[in-house]
Amino acid sequence: MDRECKATLSSFLSVEPCVNVRRSVPLSTLTSIGIGGNAACVLMPRDGGCMIRLLDRLVRGNAPFRVIGNGTNLVAPDAGYDGILVQTAGIDRISVSGNVLIAGAGAPLGRVIRRAMESGLSGLEELYGIPGTVGGALYMNAGAYGKSVSDRLRYATVYCPGSGEVTVRTPASLSFGYRTGAIMKDGLIVLSAAFTLTPAEPSRIAEKMGAILDQRKATQPLTLPSAGSVFRRPSPDRPVGKLIADAGCSGLTEGGAAVSDLHAGFIVNTGGASEADVRRLIERVKEKVSDAFGVELVPEIEFLSELGAYGA
Ligand SMILES: Cc1cc2nc3c(=O)[nH]c(=O)nc-3n(C[C@H](O)[C@H](O)[C@H](O)COP(=O)(O)OP(=O)(O)OC[C@H]3O[C@@H](n4cnc5c(N)ncnc54)[C@H](O)[C@@H]3O)c2cc1C
Repeated sequence: MDRECKATLSSFLSVEPCVNVRRSVPLSTLTSIGIGGNAACVLMPRDGGCMIRLLDRLVRGNAPFRVIGNGTNLVAPDAGYDGILVQTAGIDRISVSGNVLIAGAGAPLGRVIRRAMESGLSGLEELYGIPGTVGGALYMNAGAYGKSVSDRLRYATVYCPGSGEVTVRTPASLSFGYRTGAIMKDGLIVLSAAFTLTPAEPSRIAEKMGAILDQRKATQPLTLPSAGSVFRRPSPDRPVGKLIADAGCSGLTEGGAAVSDLHAGFIVNTGGASEADVRRLIERVKEKVSDAFGVELVPEIEFLSELGAYGA
C-alpha cells in the first residue's frame, strides 16, 4: 500500500466507524487451509450499506483491494499480502419472505441452508457442507452432488468496481457455467443474493441435509485443513479425485502438504505446509496425471497472490 492510499483509507475510516479494521492479520486464520504470512490490512464492514460506502471509497481512491469470504478456496502467500482485504463476515443477514430467501454476501452457506430448512424451504440441500459464503459461492458457482448455487438463484445484487454502480442481476445475465460466471470474469462484487425455493416438510429437508453431510464425512478429509477439491473436473463424467488416485498420487507429500488418501482431489495441510509446498505438489500431480492419462488438470483453488486487485 502506498502512502496516498493509506491516507485515503485513514480519512475514510475516521468517519466510518462501521468498518472493523485489523492490521497484520495472519492469513492462516483467514483461510481454511491455514497457510500464509500476514495480511497488512483487513477491513470488515459491519453491514451492506457500509460495504458499499467502503467499496466506493476504495475505488475512488485507487486503493488496490480484494474481497474475501471464508477463505475456503484460497491459498495465501507465504510472504504475506500487502494490499487491502475486505472481508464480508459482517454482511450476513438472512431473511425469508414466502418462498424467497435473501442472504448477505458474507452469510455462510451452511447457515443459509439451515435457515431455509427451518422455514420449510427446500432446494439448496446438496450444497450443505460447502464451507464458503454466499458471495464466494456465487463467484465460482460452487456446487456439489449435481447442483450449483446458481440453480436456485433469483437475483444477485452486485457492485461493479469499474462503474461504482450497484445493480440487481438475474442469473441469465450472469452467464453461470461449471465453476465460472460473470462475477468471476467481470470482477463483480456480490452484496447479496435471493434464492427461490420450494416449500417442503422441514424434517424431510433435515434428513437430506444429514445424508449429504454423512456422505461428505465418509469421502472427504474433513478433519484436516484444506481448500476443498484442488482441481476442476476435466469433464462431467470424470471425477477428478479418482483420476488423481488412479495416477498413483494418493499420499504424495511436499513438506507439510499431502494428497489426501481419502479423497485424492484434496491437498491437506498436515502441519506447517507453505504455499510453496502446495504449488510443488500441484505440479507433481499435474505431471503424473498428464503422463498417465494425457489429461491436463486445471486448478480450481485460487492463489491470493495471483488474483487481480479490483482497484489496481
Ligand atoms: C472441506 C471443503 C469442502 C469443499 N467442498 C466444495 C464443494 O463441494 N463444492 C464447491 O464448489 N466448493 C467446495 N469447496 C470450496 C469452497 O468452499 C467454495 O469454493 C466456496 O464457494 C468459497 O467461498 P468462500 O466464501 O470461502 O470464498 P473465498 O475462498 O474467500 O474466496 C474465493 C474467491 O471468491 C471471491 N469472493 C469472495 N467473496 C466474494 C464476493 N462477495 N463477491 C465477489 N467475489 C467474492 C474471492 O475474491 C476469491 O476470488 C470446499 C472447500 C473445503 C475447505
